[in-house]
Amino acid sequence: MGMRMVALAVGVITAAVSLGAQAERLQPLDSSGRITYFISAGEPASGYRASDRELAVWALKDWERSAAGRIRLVESLRQDALILVNFVGAQAGNYGEMRPLYANGRRGAEVFIRPDTDGLGPDIGGMARADPLMRDTIVYLTCVHELGHALGLNHTSNFADIMYFFGFGGDIPGFFTRYRAQLKERADIARVPGMSASDVAKLRSLY
Ligand SMILES: [Zn+2]
Repeated sequence: MGMRMVALAVGVITAAVSLGAQAERLQPLDSSGRITYFISAGEPASGYRASDRELAVWALKDWERSAAGRIRLVESLRQDALILVNFVGAQAGNYGEMRPLYANGRRGAEVFIRPDTDGLGPDIGGMARADPLMRDTIVYLTCVHELGHALGLNHTSNFADIMYFFGFGGDIPGFFTRYRAQLKERADIARVPGMSASDVAKLRSLY
């Protein structure tokens, strides 16, 4: 991990990057309407499951619906993608991160999701092991959060927001259980939005 990546990394939980993450002013993607994306196969030993790809797609669709027609997210070849989604191994309790990039001269974003919930500490790891839908909730909400950064949303200090920064503390397991409580089966994830009204309003202000 180079210096540039460290400086721009916007972790969900890592306190070490909290000040930098808060100072970083993210920008909307360089796109009027159509945003291309590509989802890579998970890295070996990353805890990735084949079904995680669907979680990333649902997260993208969730943001697309929130934008009420302002943006359309379209799968593309890797070389044409403005948003790259990667599933990578556990690292220092990080849920995920986003790194701005330039794709064919346009402002894009690369998102890293860490699906090994055992790497997120005993509380979160235990919840995920006891309940497969909780495990998918954690991976899904991480996708929604990091893709929110990719689309230009900054952290907030409001616990109700998907863009809430865990560095502010609070009931982190509760952040996930409130979403999990709305699910009866996995397919419900495609129907239950992960973001707050405030997250949605911010997205619409950017596009
Ligand atoms: Zn974040």
